[in-house]
Amino acid sequence: MSSQSPALRAAILIVSTTAAKDPSTDAAEATLRSVFEQDGGNQWTVAETHIVSDHSAEIQRQITTWTEPVEEGKHINLVVTTGGTGFAIADRTPEAVSPLLHKQAPGLVHGMLAASLAITPFAMMSRPVAGVRNKTIIITLPGSPKGAKENLQAVIKTLPHACLQAAGANSRALHSGGVKKLEKEAGVGSQGLAQAQAHTHGHSHSHHHDHGHSGHRHTHSHGHGHGHNHGNLVRLSSENPKSNDPSLGPSRRHRSSPYPMLSVDDALSLIAKHTPSPTTTTAKVTPDLVGKVLAQDIYASAPVPAFRASIVDGYAVVVPSSGHLRGVYPVVSTSHAAPSSNLVPLKEGQIARITTGAPLPPGANSVVMVEDTVLISTTKTTHPTTGQEIEEESSVEILSDGIVKPGANIREIGSDIPLNTLLLPSKTRLSPASIGLLSSIGTQSVKYYSPPTISLLSTGDEIVDPSLPRELSLGEVRDCNRPTLISVISQAGFTPLDLGIVSDKQSNLETTLRQALRSSDIVLTTGGVSMGEFDLLKPTIERSLGGTIHFGRVNMKPGKPTTFATVPVKNNDGTKSQKMIFSLPGNPASALVTFYVFVLPALHQLAGISPAGLPKVPVVLGHDFPVDKSRPEYHRAMVTVSKEGKLIATSTGGQRSSKVGSLEGANALLTMPAHDGPIKKGEKIEALMMGELRSELA
Ligand code: AMP
Ligand code: MG
Repeated sequence: MSSQSPALRAAILIVSTTAAKDPSTDAAEATLRSVFEQDGGNQWTVAETHIVSDHSAEIQRQITTWTEPVEEGKHINLVVTTGGTGFAIADRTPEAVSPLLHKQAPGLVHGMLAASLAITPFAMMSRPVAGVRNKTIIITLPGSPKGAKENLQAVIKTLPHACLQAAGANSRALHSGGVKKLEKEAGVGSQGLAQAQAHTHGHSHSHHHDHGHSGHRHTHSHGHGHGHNHGNLVRLSSENPKSNDPSLGPSRRHRSSPYPMLSVDDALSLIAKHTPSPTTTTAKVTPDLVGKVLAQDIYASAPVPAFRASIVDGYAVVVPSSGHLRGVYPVVSTSHAAPSSNLVPLKEGQIARITTGAPLPPGANSVVMVEDTVLISTTKTTHPTTGQEIEEESSVEILSDGIVKPGANIREIGSDIPLNTLLLPSKTRLSPASIGLLSSIGTQSVKYYSPPTISLLSTGDEIVDPSLPRELSLGEVRDCNRPTLISVISQAGFTPLDLGIVSDKQSNLETTLRQALRSSDIVLTTGGVSMGEFDLLKPTIERSLGGTIHFGRVNMKPGKPTTFATVPVKNNDGTKSQKMIFSLPGNPASALVTFYVFVLPALHQLAGISPAGLPKVPVVLGHDFPVDKSRPEYHRAMVTVSKEGKLIATSTGGQRSSKVGSLEGANALLTMPAHDGPIKKGEKIEALMMGELRSELA
């Protein structure tokens, strides 16, 4: 079955009364053709297609025609029908096909159903049959194009082998290499079905799409049943799930974690590697951009100031070559800080009244402050617009002793911001001052990194919404993680999407996670990642969502069961992207610490912020710190600037991972190495700064 093998010939039978009347309503043919082309490993030619209505006789006539014995090499290897497999009265394809089968192929039926059932129990609503007639394999696919596609994808890798056998190939030769060889040739692994689906199993039915096809198809898509609430998640079975299969009993459950214990650094590298590149947005320059990260260099497209301007209120002068100005001068004009088109040039021996920020008259080369002058005489004139009589300065004495330098009290063109200077390099996090700079050079819009979206949920049957004004029953615990994490995420400048509390039930978890994956770049969960039977995050990610767990255990305290996974998700435009799931431990201190250590860096990376994560600061221990022998510890502490300017760290108390109180009043996490015996007072340790420094002064 190499690429030199002759092409296998497939025939597609569309069973649809609607499509029989109007073939343009059929979408299944094109979909199935593309499965043969894309997933068929270059082994298939679609040799025949035909449309019949939901009539047994028509279905049977076409299939018998295609499966008649013909001369060697001319026969159809595979007939796939699409449509008529549901429970509607008109659905009769399986009944029409069954009597034609010389041999039943329940394995293929099972393969298709298992793939669908892995997605939804509604797969039970499909009634496929499969088997062999003469030398041809026949399979009945559901009517919805997406369902048909999924079912065909579930078995297509194994069909060439079945077809060759059905066509009479020497079985012994075919099987000579053993099942491993067959799997290799078919591009599937020992996980069999899961692998066969692996890279192709699209799972993106939209309710609208399936049902919008036609009235006839409507019933079929019910029959197939997928996609009523699975949105656009790509179905992709995890290659090698390590997690517990929740359907297994206690005796077959893992008693120690099957996930390798990673160092924090290795875990962080994996996160960095699997964090997608940031995307960008362009928006008008407004104060709303504060906090956004520039995705372009900004050059000054105009100098600031744009004209020679006075720094003070006073008199514009032309400094004579001697530099001495003392004397009485006629005031020949006035320049205000206002748009001005006809400034009279100034000559040596004349002065002009000028206000702060006003343009200098041409020829002027210095400004004398009003404080260094005396008014000598005034004249009366008529105001040009109001017609009122006003008094104006006519001569002023300049008192300056000594030399006046040309250029004094003048802001030259571009002296604040020269033309074409790099004003704000890409990756700058915009501050209020940056908005000022952008405004002053007249930048209209900028490109910035789109802020990532993050949704979060708490898990646990015992978790109760803290807003419920009631006493707790035995075993109940108020949700502390979600409000805390929402606060930190907001404080870090991101917008969290709150998905509430989800019970420890796999179907609930799966539904909420799918919703979360559709609506955000990062999904954050707490709880359910330990070793208990209700710790369902890992199995749900691996087994229901087809995600890949990159790590499920980290050598740290607190936070050992922290889990990071990516899940392929199909976007509305048909492209696929990887979404990230961080499943943090449920204990409140663990959840917050692991958020800072693992999730914040990913958020930062997605937002274009670097360096990513909390700022690292060297601090000195203010007392001995007890530490763990085997696991590096993140110790909640208060870092204070001493009167001498040293950064001193003191513990905020008991470090048990459930103890949220030790985080209250902590502004830092000290990264304590694993060590036998305490780390001594005076030692230098790296701290991750969560909050503002406290100062011993004031
Ligand atoms: P888990 O990680 O689900 O095994 O939970 C570990 C511990 O954290 C248990 O005592 C839970 O009750 C507690 N816990 C889990 N989630 C939360 C939460 N959202 N708020 C407060 N405590 C929690
Ligand atoms: Mg739990």
